[in-house]
Amino acid sequence: MLTRGLSNLARRRLAVTSGVAAHHRLFSTTLTRQTEAAASGLNSLHTFTEEEEMMRDMVSKFARDVIKPKVQEMEESEAMPPQLIKELFDQGLMGIETSADLGGAEGSFTSAIIAVEELAKVDASVSTLCDVHNTLVNTVLRQHAGDEVKSKYLPQLATEKVGSFCLTESGAGSDAFSLATRAEKKGDYWVINGSKMWISNSGEAELFLVFANADPSKGYKGITCFIVEKDMGVKIAKKEKKLGIRASSTCVLDFDEVKVPESNIVGGLGQGYKYAIQILNEGRIGIAAQMVGIAQGVFDETMPYLFQRKQFNSFIGDFQGMQHQYARIATEIEAARLLTYNAARLKEEGKSFLTEAAMAKLFACEVAERAASKCIEWLGGVGFTRELPAEKFYRDAKIGAIYEGTSNIQLNTIAKAIARKYRQ
Ligand SMILES: Cc1cc2nc3c(=O)[nH]c(=O)nc-3n(C[C@H](O)[C@H](O)[C@H](O)COP(=O)(O)OP(=O)(O)OC[C@H]3O[C@@H](n4cnc5c(N)ncnc54)[C@H](O)[C@@H]3O)c2cc1C
Repeated sequence: MLTRGLSNLARRRLAVTSGVAAHHRLFSTTLTRQTEAAASGLNSLHTFTEEEEMMRDMVSKFARDVIKPKVQEMEESEAMPPQLIKELFDQGLMGIETSADLGGAEGSFTSAIIAVEELAKVDASVSTLCDVHNTLVNTVLRQHAGDEVKSKYLPQLATEKVGSFCLTESGAGSDAFSLATRAEKKGDYWVINGSKMWISNSGEAELFLVFANADPSKGYKGITCFIVEKDMGVKIAKKEKKLGIRASSTCVLDFDEVKVPESNIVGGLGQGYKYAIQILNEGRIGIAAQMVGIAQGVFDETMPYLFQRKQFNSFIGDFQGMQHQYARIATEIEAARLLTYNAARLKEEGKSFLTEAAMAKLFACEVAERAASKCIEWLGGVGFTRELPAEKFYRDAKIGAIYEGTSNIQLNTIAKAIARKYRQ
């Protein structure tokens, strides 16, 4: 590939030195190079498949036409209308990567990332629901469950039932594997006892992926993943009242003698810790996409105002002090987006993506918070009111530094990789 690239460069140089007649040759050579580059996968990070482009157009339109008119009401009621959730299912947004024979849209990972980004441009809560359901719940089942669990639950998750991912507990946050929820075998059943905290989607969910320790003598290697139906006895103990993503339910869940059939173990006994690590590593790319969406969403909502509002007989967007600020924020959003898309493509290509995903999440959540903060300032006094959505974007952005690994945890991951490389 390098040889081909170099020989193209040599051909191009020759064409330039051969005068005007060579102009057409140069042009056609450049085209050839572009075609060759594309054929060998050397594309920009803004290159998408037709299916991914369709996903972006569809979700963008859905978010604008269906979600946007409901955002204020959802914010005030701190709830998501059941009809909206039904429409997410109807649009195929709840089984994006699930295979068509199991009721899904059979899209790529990047399609899921694009959907999360587009939803977050309009409402971060809806994007949380879609992100957790797709990139955590569905993916754990797709990648690790046996055929029986897959064929029973993936169609339900693609078409009608919301899923939750239940790892965190009051005593087990960043140190997730110190979890205290227990699973004990009794005959054909496992009995789960314990409590989970901060569980997204849990107000609406009917299916729960629950991480419980089935053999505490083995430490974290006893952690096992179960799929639990709400009717098996999952209880909502408390719904949190939050700073942001208010329409996304976040609850404390109690499991009190919940009987789960042996067949509802996802994958292998004692393998849950591996699944959790792996899924959170890739799930982080989804949160990065959500943060890119928030940043772009608040920017798009705010920028027109800069060319409507006049002070000192000039549009405020024409002052150099403002121009430099929005140029910088736009650059940061683009950088966050490229980190995110790059991590997604690395994952799809089967390459190592751990550090890149951590970098994408870390940076994107900082950019989202900074973009929303700046937009509030650019709007002046009205930006500080609830008349305009900037303050909501600002509050919604804050979650990015907390869930699916805090920013410190991302920094730990990045630092470990760097130290491994340079330590003698
Ligand atoms: C709205 C919301 C939704 C959530 N959804 C889900 C969900 O669906 N499923 C689920 O399982 N969980 C969920 N969580 C839980 C979330 O993943 C945890 O809150 C997060 O991992 C942090 O855990 P913690 O809250 O216990 O904070 P802690 O772990 O106690 O951290 C507190 C502070 O200490 C720092 N810290 C901790 N350890 C280290 C360290 N080793 N080095 C440096 N700093 C450190 C952290 O960075 C943080 O600043 C959700 C949380 C929220 C707020």
